[in-house]
Amino acid sequence: MAFDLASSHCFQFSWLLVLVEAFTEFVKCGKDKIKEKVKLSSSKLCSYAETSNLLKMDRSKNLVTNLQPQMPTDNINLGPSANPNAKPKDFDFLKVIGKGSFGKVLLAKRKCDGKFYAVKVLQKKTILKKKEQNHIMAERNVLLKNLKHPFLVGLHYSFQTSEKLYFVLDYVNGGELFFHLQRERCFLEPRARFYAAEVASAIGYLHSLNIIYRDLKPENILLDCQGHVVLTDFGLCKEGMEPEETTSTFCGTPEYLAPEVLKKLPYDRTVDWWCLGAVIYEMLYGLPPFYSRDMSQMYDNILNKPLQLPATKTVAACDILQGLLHKNQKIRLGAKMDFLEIRHHVFFSPINWDDLYHKRITPPFNPNVAGPGDLQHFDPEFTQETVPSSIGRTPDLATGTSSASNAFLGFSYAQSDENFLG
Ligand code: AMP
Repeated sequence: MAFDLASSHCFQFSWLLVLVEAFTEFVKCGKDKIKEKVKLSSSKLCSYAETSNLLKMDRSKNLVTNLQPQMPTDNINLGPSANPNAKPKDFDFLKVIGKGSFGKVLLAKRKCDGKFYAVKVLQKKTILKKKEQNHIMAERNVLLKNLKHPFLVGLHYSFQTSEKLYFVLDYVNGGELFFHLQRERCFLEPRARFYAAEVASAIGYLHSLNIIYRDLKPENILLDCQGHVVLTDFGLCKEGMEPEETTSTFCGTPEYLAPEVLKKLPYDRTVDWWCLGAVIYEMLYGLPPFYSRDMSQMYDNILNKPLQLPATKTVAACDILQGLLHKNQKIRLGAKMDFLEIRHHVFFSPINWDDLYHKRITPPFNPNVAGPGDLQHFDPEFTQETVPSSIGRTPDLATGTSSASNAFLGFSYAQSDENFLG
């Protein structure tokens, strides 16, 4: 086999997801939609559990307005992640395990070696309909970055048919952090510290490549089968941000929006440190900071209400939360030295960062998965869904002459007769 996956190391081009989803977000542009959503949400919210479910369902619909097109380019070049020999028939698609804005994530078993992968399948048509291709193209440079980090999902390779893009990812089956947090309500400090440190390490790495993650929240943080963190969704990453550079794209998920994002002011990489603060807060207290059932009240709280920290946590925990959740981004923890400031904070003093990076710290919780087929940590809402098996129903335009196909030149192209996974 020309492209031997088993021996190829993971191409951690998480950007992919990036690109592809960046379009995504364009889609939902529009203040009116946001208002509508806020109204709908606030009228429906009754309890935190319900709220969480609602937000979880809506999480792929991150709010984005103002996304300015960047430099237009001809097509996407997936670089070393493209596998010219791959095709959908290489896999048995077993289960739907998640949904994003442009498509589904499926558990798949590769026929040649029986290995399990999470395959993210995106519809070109949907992307193009949403007129996002320019943005995708514009993000080409992100695609070419070879992201590789122990706490970022590994992309093994990608391919395409005339209708779909396929991203073959590490299969991560310890469940979403969000899922475990909901079940246990909150975590003790050592456990929250461990997850926060692994997340911060990944964010620091992205920042070192001038990439802002922008959409950090518990449902984007998965656990692997040992209990280590894996960040998966790079849909909102913004690349090319120099340390002092700002952007005014309005995006994020309501309860984690930083004040500057909410105010539509230019923001910079410190937005990720705000989000880390929000995630730590939620892990420790069980609710997002500034939370209110009434969404507009929550926005108001984020902008104006001083952070309240019930004195049930250590001084170190309260101090890092104060630092990360500082409304003024210029004096927020991380504003000066970025990740260095975070890792040197006293809250993280029990962490040996070298051991952490090399996964030498035993995770505080073991998801206890029985094997790849063990889907206990996935939402039955997805896993009970039938996997579309419309193989051969529509001939594939393998010549690549359709406009949808042409727009994605640069992905490896699978000559296939199947219209897979609608
Ligand atoms: P995404 O479109 O990346 O936000 O993915 C949607 C959902 O699919 C996530 O919240 C996860 O529950 C699931 N998912 C995404 N990537 C993976 C993966 N590599 N392994 C297992 N589940 C995943």
